[in-house]
Amino acid sequence: MATLDADDFIVPAAPAARRSRQAAVRWQDHVVTIGGDAPVRVQSMTNTDTVDAIGTAIQVKELAHAGSELVRITVNTPEAAAAVPYIREQLDRMGVQVPLVGDFHYNGHRLLADHPACAEALSKYRINPGNVGKGDKRDRQFGQMVEIAAKLDKVVRIGVNWGSLDQELLAQMMDENGRRAEPHEPQQVMYRAIITSAIESARFAEEIGLAADSIILSCKMSGVQDLVSVYRALARRCDYALHLGLTEAGMGTKGTVASTAALALLLQEGIGDTIRVSLTPQPGEPRTQEVVIAREILQSLGLRSFNPSVTACPGCGRTTSTTFQELAKQIDDYLRAQMPVWIERYPGVEKLKVAVMGCIVNGPGESKHADIGISLPGTGEAPAAPVFIDGEKALTLRGAGIATEFQALVETYIEKRFAPTTASRDG
Ligand code: SF4
Repeated sequence: MATLDADDFIVPAAPAARRSRQAAVRWQDHVVTIGGDAPVRVQSMTNTDTVDAIGTAIQVKELAHAGSELVRITVNTPEAAAAVPYIREQLDRMGVQVPLVGDFHYNGHRLLADHPACAEALSKYRINPGNVGKGDKRDRQFGQMVEIAAKLDKVVRIGVNWGSLDQELLAQMMDENGRRAEPHEPQQVMYRAIITSAIESARFAEEIGLAADSIILSCKMSGVQDLVSVYRALARRCDYALHLGLTEAGMGTKGTVASTAALALLLQEGIGDTIRVSLTPQPGEPRTQEVVIAREILQSLGLRSFNPSVTACPGCGRTTSTTFQELAKQIDDYLRAQMPVWIERYPGVEKLKVAVMGCIVNGPGESKHADIGISLPGTGEAPAAPVFIDGEKALTLRGAGIATEFQALVETYIEKRFAPTTASRDG
């Protein structure tokens, strides 16, 4: 059997750091920094008709309350552009300061020029260089949008999407490749065209007068390996802040897993300053689900802490009842529901670790690793649930009230550990 050398200790894995330029997205006094030493930010996008200003403002508020630090809205018509200042006003009235990002395609130059209040109310513009116009109109219309952004001190995301890649650029690069003695694979040429479109557009924006730290790049693809390949190359080629997302990720389990796989691989390499999970909501599923998943990805990688984590075993033949599943869900729901209040009252509570385990096999061990954990009795075990606090067995719960009593113990633990002391409050 292979053994480790006495000094062969394994260094814990940790995400690498890529130091990018830092952009500051502002709405009045509220500033969201992206890149540099800022935490990886969570973004989302509404799926309401922007013309429905009230409906859109309500969804923006829900997304912001779920933890989205920027929210993008579609700005596709003069009516939508006219609604933007009104949406902003509604949000301000509700005390929601989240910066709004305008998503422009085809006519953004006209909408921004014709609707100055819209241009002002947005904190960031998303421009797709593949959808700004063809031929000589492309640079002119792109330039018009960038000039407005520079004048109003707005951040711009130059967002290339492989589904709407600049076809003239792609055709030109395919032709050049075809003339090579040893042509590259078409997929490699496409990758190159995507990255070239993003970087050349950014350089052009800088020439027009937009500061480099007001530029964020994205090159979204719908295949995990395609996305990883492109972002690795993009990160090597520039120091702009990068927005990361698997475009058209899909629904439910597929969308969640594909987004997680793609984003986790890149974030672990230090690539990505802001993320969005482009999930297609299932019927009846709230739009906020994409924010929940984005936050879980960042928390799972140890990049950010948003909520206390609940470790729960999957259950097996040793558990014949659903008691521990119900308790794990109850505790998880409870912790999430309390967080908006607790985050103010108990600084650091988001780092709390709770374990809810199904039997004696891994229960005590996993519970000892948590701040507070409970090991429920499996089939055939004595009907007793030992509770571990800070690695030590503290007490044993019995009877029908285990769930309520454990929840009360969690609350007491949080109060004791995270409530600021009088000295820290005064200091
Ligand atoms: S802790 Fe017990 S109940 Fe849970 S998965 Fe392991 S053996 Fe099964």
